[in-house]
Amino acid sequence: MTAKLFKVEPQAVPEVHPIPEPTFPTNLYETDRHLQVVLARYLQSDPEGRHWVADMLREWGEICAQQIEPLYLEAERNGPTLKQFDRRGERVDELIFHPAYHAIGQLVYGFGLAAMSNVANFKGLGRPTSQLAKFAAMYQFCQVEGSISCPLSMTDIMARTLNKFASQEIIQRYLPRLTSLDYEQLYTGAMFMTEKVGGSDVGATTTSAHRTEDGWELSGDKWFCSNVGADLILTLARPEGAVARTQGLGLFLVPRFLPDGHRNSYVINRLKDKLGTRGMASGEVTFNRATAYLIEPLERGFVMMMEMVNGTRLHSGVGGVGTLRRSVIEATQHARSRRSFRRTLAEHPLISRQLSRLIVDSEATTSLMLATAQALDVADSPAASRADSLISRLLISLLKRYGTEHGVKGAQAALELRGGNGYIEDWPNARILRDSYVNIIWEGGINMVSFDVLRLLGREGVWGIYAAAIEKELAGIHNSALADSVAELRQALTNLEQETERIMTGSRELQEIAAPQLTETMATLYAAVLRVAETEFCFGYDSAWAERSLQSVQCYLTDFLHPALHNLTQIKLEADSTELINGAV
Ligand SMILES: Cc1cc2nc3c(=O)[nH]c(=O)nc-3n(C[C@H](O)[C@H](O)[C@H](O)COP(=O)(O)OP(=O)(O)OC[C@H]3O[C@@H](n4cnc5c(N)ncnc54)[C@H](O)[C@@H]3O)c2cc1C
Repeated sequence: MTAKLFKVEPQAVPEVHPIPEPTFPTNLYETDRHLQVVLARYLQSDPEGRHWVADMLREWGEICAQQIEPLYLEAERNGPTLKQFDRRGERVDELIFHPAYHAIGQLVYGFGLAAMSNVANFKGLGRPTSQLAKFAAMYQFCQVEGSISCPLSMTDIMARTLNKFASQEIIQRYLPRLTSLDYEQLYTGAMFMTEKVGGSDVGATTTSAHRTEDGWELSGDKWFCSNVGADLILTLARPEGAVARTQGLGLFLVPRFLPDGHRNSYVINRLKDKLGTRGMASGEVTFNRATAYLIEPLERGFVMMMEMVNGTRLHSGVGGVGTLRRSVIEATQHARSRRSFRRTLAEHPLISRQLSRLIVDSEATTSLMLATAQALDVADSPAASRADSLISRLLISLLKRYGTEHGVKGAQAALELRGGNGYIEDWPNARILRDSYVNIIWEGGINMVSFDVLRLLGREGVWGIYAAAIEKELAGIHNSALADSVAELRQALTNLEQETERIMTGSRELQEIAAPQLTETMATLYAAVLRVAETEFCFGYDSAWAERSLQSVQCYLTDFLHPALHNLTQIKLEADSTELINGAV
């Protein structure tokens, strides 16, 4: 027998699976250097505040990554159901959620996201948390969650709106519940504005308000009602005989349960079967002489509601920015591990370029978001000027328009980069893309938000305030490495001013057609200026990061600012399109 003396056993080669497992960060603060640096810049003169915010975001960043991320998958796959009647046929309109939904609620409300900027002394801080810190925490939450973020935003902003406008009686009765850290005690908020006649044209509202001996009763249908099972609803209704249009609308607070414990007189007709945000219940409601408390003065109802709308628009913008950051995480991790044509995806020139664009867009949008939150803090301060309040309103509209759309584009880019698997529900991309769209639609789509910017430019003369804010940032930049970028930005400001002048002195038709691109360009320029100012700060704070930041700035100027400006210059009135549209179908 011949022994096989030279038999070679196959060597054990570590097996590399061709489909990389997604590796999610364990802490959304630790891995987000850009967030850390920008916050350090805003809080440089407040070291105590900086540490408090960093500790809070580190703790929350871990909870988001390790606890909420897996819970949300469960909540999203097992959306709510509506039980309209009990076994005796009594109307109950009870919403039944998966336990994971409540588990997220306990974590997020318990951590204080709805309370922190609405209570006098948050967790022994001696004051409310700044909007800057709160929205940084929301941005982390929106990277892993796309449903509860909606009721959460409305609860936060309802507390703010009531604090600002409601009577002491209403504040004392409801504010402690809206800001409770105890999930069992908590009241959540909602806002029902949209009716079948339209969400954009709020002046067409048909819900009527009837004055009784004791107060007010509302009757009518609301067509889109997110967090439909909310404990408190802010809504608009027209008192009998009031003028048509928005000026005739009053703002009313409608409790789900009356002080005597009985259900208020409205029904949930059905739940919406939605593209995304499936973990959260949106429905249709009919008020049947529902008891409502008027938020006075009656004739300023729409104006006060716009305070709520602006706050939730900021939340929507943050939702978009969180989506972009999540898309960066998914795309970068995947592209660095997945191989095609004997290289990782990230090593291919085109993908490297696409990833860079996604990353610099995410960083610029995060900067715009934090500047917007900071501007709201300034506008809220007792010494705030009219200019502070106008720049805050402008930035909210810019962020809503830019952040929400770029969030969707980012989610789409990350899905595409994962290839076919991106389309499959085993992976997070489809869910992220689905959830991202609502940020654009809710609280006014791109067109309506851009019209608000037209109003601010026209009626309120906001251009001067915008240009002055940009000049102030640029005046603080002295590093020679940034000189070219500063010159480019000054030129861009001049060009944008000329274009704005051309559009704002043109016909109303031209203004409307140009509004979305004008808004996009104003947002892009503001974000670019912030990124250069942040890079200046980096040179004295973290020089290695400053070099990277410089590269990010150059990419943003080339790939975002220049095309945005160019596209704006191309917008002109075209021939009437009625024939074109009529012939299409
Ligand atoms: C998941 C989800 C949850 C929602 N939750 C709520 C909620 O809790 N509360 C609430 O009140 N609403 C809610 N909405 C409704 C949402 O705010 C509206 O759908 C939105 O404001 C648009 O209103 P609409 O659907 O009536 O569209 P329309 O007003 O009919 O507008 C249709 C499109 O035309 C555009 N448009 C309208 N007029 C003009 C114009 N003059 N020029 C150019 N463009 C124009 C709009 O931007 C939009 O893109 C929700 C919607 C969704 C999808």
